[in-house]
Amino acid sequence: MRALYLDRVLTLRRDYPDPRSVPGEAIVKVRLSGICGTDLELISGYMAHRGVLGHEFVGEVVATAGNGSGAGAPEGAELAQRRVVGEINVGCGRCHACRADLERHCPNRTVLGVLGRDGSFAEYLSLPPRNLLPVPDSVPDEMAVFCEPVAAACEILEQVRFDGRETIAVLGDGRLGAVVAMVLAAEGLNPVLAGRHPEKLARLGALGLRTNLESKMEPGFDMVVDCTGNPAGFERAVALTRPRGRIVLKSTTALGGNLNLAPIVIDEVTVVGSRCGRFEPALKLLASGKVDPRPLISAAYPLDQGIEAMAASHEPPNFKILIRPS
Ligand SMILES: [Zn+2]
Ligand SMILES: [Zn+2]
Repeated sequence: MRALYLDRVLTLRRDYPDPRSVPGEAIVKVRLSGICGTDLELISGYMAHRGVLGHEFVGEVVATAGNGSGAGAPEGAELAQRRVVGEINVGCGRCHACRADLERHCPNRTVLGVLGRDGSFAEYLSLPPRNLLPVPDSVPDEMAVFCEPVAAACEILEQVRFDGRETIAVLGDGRLGAVVAMVLAAEGLNPVLAGRHPEKLARLGALGLRTNLESKMEPGFDMVVDCTGNPAGFERAVALTRPRGRIVLKSTTALGGNLNLAPIVIDEVTVVGSRCGRFEPALKLLASGKVDPRPLISAAYPLDQGIEAMAASHEPPNFKILIRPS
C-alpha cells in the first residue's frame, strides 16, 4: 500500500506492507486523515517516531479481528463495514492504568502514528476493535476526522470544574486553539481566543468566536488554556492568569531554558496538564451539531501529495489540511 513513512525524513512509500496480519486487531481502510501540530513536531524529531505518521482519521472497517478459537463471531464483528473513528492509545490491558480504563496513560502503550504504531497517512491501518467507535450517519467524514482534537478539547471539561461564570482565555490561534475555543464556546463558557495572526483571528471571529490580539490581552483571567505550541506560551499564560486561577497546558512543546516558577507559587496558580481525551463525548458533541469544525478545513490532498500537504500545514493562513488516501 501507499503510506507516508517517517524515518528522520518523510517519504511516500508505494510498497509499504499492508497491516493485514495483526492478531486481535481490525483493519481499517482510511477515508480521510488530518494533519496536526504533533505530526509536524514528529517530523522535526519529537518522540523519535519511526513509522507511518497520522493519528486523526475516519475510515471503514474492512476486516474484524479473528478470535483465535475459530468459534463464534470474530471480535469486533459488529463493526464490519462500519464507518469508524479510533482512539489512538493502545494499552497493554494488564497494568494499573489500563484496568482503570486509562489506556492513554499505560506505560507500555503504543500510540497510532506517534509511538511504536503505524498511523493513518496510509491506505490502511490496524487498531484493536475496542479502540474503534462507529460514526453516526449524520456525521460526515469531514466532521468525524476532527474527533481526536475535539476529544482533546473535551478532556479539559473532564479535568476542570466550571461554574459557567469564569473568564477564560485560549492562547494560540492555530488548529488546536481553534478547536478548544469552539468546544468551550459550545459549552456556554464564552472564551476569548488570543493569537498573533490578525488574518487567522478574523477568520475565527467570522465563525462566531470571541477573538483578540494576544498583545492586547490584559491579565486577570480565571483560566488560561495554552494551545500556542511554543515554549513562550506557558509564561504568557502565567502572566495572564489571576492569583488562584488555573492554567491548562495543551502544548506538548518541551519547555526550554530558564523557566521561572515563582509566580505559580506566589499567585497559587493551579497548572493542569491536558493531553488526549475520550472519543465518545467528542463524537456526541459533533453529532449534536454544537461543534462543527469543518470551516477550519483549508484543503484536502491526495496521499500521493502527502509531502506537499505537510508543507501546506506550515503556511500561516492554513488551519486544517486533510489527506485523502484514495
Ligand atoms: Zn493530533
Ligand atoms: Zn497498560
